Amino acid sequence: MIKYKSTRGSLQEKNGAQAIIKGIAEDKGLYVPQRFPQLPCALSELIGSDYRQVAFRVLGLFLTDYPQEDLKRCIDSAYDSKFEAPEIAPLVKGGDAYFLELYHGRTAAFKDMALSILPYLLTTAMKNEKEESRIVILTATSGDTGKAALEGFADVPGTEIIVFYPNEGVSQVQERQMVTQEGKNTHVYAIRGNFDDAQTGVKQIFNDQAYAEELAAKGMKLSSANSINIGRLVPQVAYYVWAYVKLLEKGVLKEGEPMNVVVPTGNFGNILAAWYAKQIGVPVDRFICASNENKVLTDFINTGVYDIRREFHLTNSPSMDILISSNLERLLYHLSGNDGAEIASLMASLEKEKRYEVNEKIRAGLASFYGGFATEAETKKAIGDMYRENGYLMDTHTAVAYKVYEDYRKESGDETPAVIASTASAYKFADSVAEAIGLPEFADGFAYISALNAKTGVRVPRGLAGLEHKKVLHTGVYDKEELLDAVRNALQ
Ligand SMILES: *Cc1c(COP(=O)(O)O)cnc(C)c1O
Repeated sequence: MIKYKSTRGSLQEKNGAQAIIKGIAEDKGLYVPQRFPQLPCALSELIGSDYRQVAFRVLGLFLTDYPQEDLKRCIDSAYDSKFEAPEIAPLVKGGDAYFLELYHGRTAAFKDMALSILPYLLTTAMKNEKEESRIVILTATSGDTGKAALEGFADVPGTEIIVFYPNEGVSQVQERQMVTQEGKNTHVYAIRGNFDDAQTGVKQIFNDQAYAEELAAKGMKLSSANSINIGRLVPQVAYYVWAYVKLLEKGVLKEGEPMNVVVPTGNFGNILAAWYAKQIGVPVDRFICASNENKVLTDFINTGVYDIRREFHLTNSPSMDILISSNLERLLYHLSGNDGAEIASLMASLEKEKRYEVNEKIRAGLASFYGGFATEAETKKAIGDMYRENGYLMDTHTAVAYKVYEDYRKESGDETPAVIASTASAYKFADSVAEAIGLPEFADGFAYISALNAKTGVRVPRGLAGLEHKKVLHTGVYDKEELLDAVRNALQ
């Protein structure tokens, strides 16, 4: 049985279902497994399995309280023909790296990998835990989580979904995807501020005891679809197991030989999932953590000091415009030897001093991580070069990862086969990608989608086709101090 506890030392234990319903622990910590299960078979035995079968193995290890037939139903309902690639997450060679394309779901970003299944995991948890409250999903987004959560939860019985996005700092396509969302239980608000403001505001509402009581009186309860919810993280572990199996299948690796992973990182959820994959038995050697100009993580990995007293940059990889990477807290907890008191003190320091420095033990655990970053210009150049030389089209986030991977190889000489997490369709950031491959400028942002399609022949994801003609259904804008008003407004 795998139990979940808070990273900040609270002694309360939850099973998987309870942790997923609650989202964030009462002491503001994140739920983490108290030990790591181990894959029960050699990875080569999974060769020939489809994505659903691999996901079933992995989810079953972490969510031991879910009956097997429930898990199977969740997985089969999530990973079906709403993904436009039959393999769900194809591993594609581009240049000298393997791109794990995680963006073939409904919203064309990797968030679909977890958010297609989270609503099923949550409603199953509610049924099995006899939870009768209406669950209100509160979500802050840097652009992609919001739409993926809206698609996942739209009209799911027993739930409301509320999304906050920064009014400046998401791409035009991302914004239009969200404000055109249909579904009676969906609520979308722009806030005047950046992603960190949105995430901080949402966390404040989670910690507001008086408001929790007000909601309870209405038969409602808050939960989260951000990667602070363990139900987001666990499904993401599956695709790193899958990627390794694909490398075995292609003959790139033999059983037991290591791969490296390269992840364009924002909230540290995706790269943490790769680290979890290693803990359960996938041979990963280096974790290459790629940032854009908001390079807090690069500096942290290099110095052991996490310091957010710096300028916030709006970049062409907006889903990574983040200074407070929530999931890092989970890694620090594991590396500290499950020392909740230590993590609570680091997080208190982050809140008060806007910085913290980790101890030697944690520092030593970070040795398998490499941190690097790409500027906007370097990102564009990477897209252009890759397209010209290999005919492979990367989005801006994936390009950040590729550039950092190239830096890593030059510095280290390490030629271990690398899997790059390819996190979005190029069409989601069509203007930047079009410019990077030398297309002319257009006045209307949506014109880039057809221009990019005409030039490259890469198929436009279903969810993005015709987006500019969809009706705008959400227009609310709030100050960053007013998030609670917006929530009250949504739930009245
Ligand atoms: C969310 C997102 C990221 C960052 O992922 P984290 O799990 O937050 O580190 C990178 N690229 C894209 C396209 C995203 O949507």
